[in-house]
Amino acid sequence: MKPLYVGATADTDREALTAAREFLSAQFGLPVRETELPGVDFAFDPRRNQYGSSAVLDMLARLCPPDAAKLVGLTERDLFIPVLTFVFGHAQLQGRVAVVSLARLRQEFYGLEPNRDIFLDRVRKEVLHETGHTFGLVHCGDRSCAMALSTRVQQIDEKQAAFCPACVRQLEHGVTA
Ligand SMILES: [Zn+2]
Ligand SMILES: [Zn+2]
Repeated sequence: MKPLYVGATADTDREALTAAREFLSAQFGLPVRETELPGVDFAFDPRRNQYGSSAVLDMLARLCPPDAAKLVGLTERDLFIPVLTFVFGHAQLQGRVAVVSLARLRQEFYGLEPNRDIFLDRVRKEVLHETGHTFGLVHCGDRSCAMALSTRVQQIDEKQAAFCPACVRQLEHGVTA
């Protein structure tokens, strides 16, 4: 089976990258390789002081290795799509690439004490969520499912770092299709 890739720019939290790689490998039962990504300054929007996630996805699609099943990029930059204030991540539905922003996953972003366990837990959930989209999963009504929509960080914390049984069934169908 083709491997998954997780990519990150040089300034990306290394512990988050390792957590994402190990977690994806365990969840999907696939080898996961790491790859270095160039910076995403080209996606910067000075009016919003944020980075356009669609442009980042386009870059990832160009860089996706030929042998990769999927490429999931991690970035420290705060991402947006035009209709939303921000996004925790963005993926090509049933595509090959996804991106997750670490910018809003740390407690300190919300003025709280740093907590690595909470941060890495959120990283795993968001990486799983966006990767799920690339395998064709859409948002799930089960609030505890990793595929539940999160527009606030509290909603990430309410989710499990796992897919619900219904999403697992769809995933098994999609992955083998
Ligand atoms: Zn989503
Ligand atoms: Zn679900």
